[in-house]
Amino acid sequence: MIRKLLRRIFKRGEPSPHPVEIIPAERHGIRPEGVSPGARRTCETLQQAGHRAYVVGGAVRDLIAGRQPKDFDVATDATPDEVRRLFRRSRIIGRRFQIVHVMQGGETLEVSTFRAAHDEDTLKVEHGRVLRDNVWGSMEDDAARRDFTINALYYDPTSGSVFDYHHGVRDLQRKTLRMIGDPRARYREDPVRMLRAVRFSAKLDLRLDPMVQAPIREMAELIENVPSSRLFDEMLKLLFSGHAVECVKRLREDGLHQGLLPLLDVIFEQPLGEKFVMLALADTDLRIRADKRTSPGFLFATLLWHEVLANWEKRKKNGEPAVPALHTAMDEVLDTQGEKLAITRRIAGDIKDIWLLQPRFEKRGGRAPFRLIEQQRFRAAWDFLLLRAKSGEASQELADWWLAFQEAGNAEREEMLKPDSGPKKRRRGRGRKTGEAGAADAVPMHPAGAADAVPPAPTFKD
Ligand code: ATP
Ligand code: MG
Repeated sequence: MIRKLLRRIFKRGEPSPHPVEIIPAERHGIRPEGVSPGARRTCETLQQAGHRAYVVGGAVRDLIAGRQPKDFDVATDATPDEVRRLFRRSRIIGRRFQIVHVMQGGETLEVSTFRAAHDEDTLKVEHGRVLRDNVWGSMEDDAARRDFTINALYYDPTSGSVFDYHHGVRDLQRKTLRMIGDPRARYREDPVRMLRAVRFSAKLDLRLDPMVQAPIREMAELIENVPSSRLFDEMLKLLFSGHAVECVKRLREDGLHQGLLPLLDVIFEQPLGEKFVMLALADTDLRIRADKRTSPGFLFATLLWHEVLANWEKRKKNGEPAVPALHTAMDEVLDTQGEKLAITRRIAGDIKDIWLLQPRFEKRGGRAPFRLIEQQRFRAAWDFLLLRAKSGEASQELADWWLAFQEAGNAEREEMLKPDSGPKKRRRGRGRKTGEAGAADAVPMHPAGAADAVPPAPTFKD
């Protein structure tokens, strides 16, 4: 009661506990050209209509750190309806917290209204106008609800100044990640912040402030309460940050991987599993940094592959026929991990496509290689095979053969074909059911340790 009263008095009384520091360009180093034309135009339009508007959050942080931002967010004191009216190509999204997507050329800017922390009893009444579930606030409130000091910076493209309420610029220059407020309380409010701490520290090479670091180990298990769809989003950000190897290393050090990637433990126990996953992550990091295409399906296929292999081997040992055993193993792994990780149906489809094409690489006779190379997912499946070979789980000879086959002309390809020990004659109407194309070509593979083994004679019909 008394605390509430004090808080109320404190909030009402000026000066504010976090006076803003207005930092000129020569101290923060952002060049105006670093900000996208769409973000600049959006801020200008809002400001010309009498509102405050700034580039905010990750983009400002990345610009000061000398990185190219992924996207630009804008924060303003205009309400979503006011923003909507100012931009012809815009729409309000989100129900609980409305934001506006503003389209400028090919860019989509996320414009959000200054918001106060969601502190039911005080803020709603004093600081915010409550509209549905939206709690508007001042710019200072908006800064205070953000997670780390380096994420609470506001850049004004018109004046070139940065508005800094929590010494974010200083922290960034000192390469330190500091929480706004008490880290324990902020982790309790939202455990995802622990993962964000790890991601930002890996991405920007920041030292975690001891107060930010210390509670993580003991609070790590709170991650389990986070809805899986949110975990999935955060995990994608982490894995596609261009610093996945470093992130995973740090997550393991902090005991955070158990909640986020329960499968990592399982994978790392498999022979060759850790090597394979780390190679896959390193490969993804390189692709991201080189601005090449990546796909969640491919990455998740690598993360879960050794679990599938182990499951499949067990089934085959128990006498299950190879092909149905592979299907069951895939489904089982995707069912358990898919649920925990909220893997969408579309991504699960991509993952299966990549897995199902793997056994078909073993088949190097007859028409099979020609058909395989025509598959829509061939390129991804081939990249996957390369990683398997690099980790020692598939033979390098096989990967080399497929590289040569892709580069060869038609006549050369014919010469490369291995003797096909399967039945030569095609038996019409037998041996293949619709939808089982991949399975029909499947042959047993050689998991762990069989790097140089010669594939057994294929036993399928084709
Ligand atoms: P990036 O987009 O590079 O992953 P980001 O900092 O922009 O990093 P977003 O998730 O896009 O991350 O969030 C935008 C901003 O919203 C952040 O900079 C931060 O100010 C605020 N924010 C995001 N998530 C949280 C959170 N869990 N708690 C408090 N503030 C958050
Ligand atoms: Mg962002």
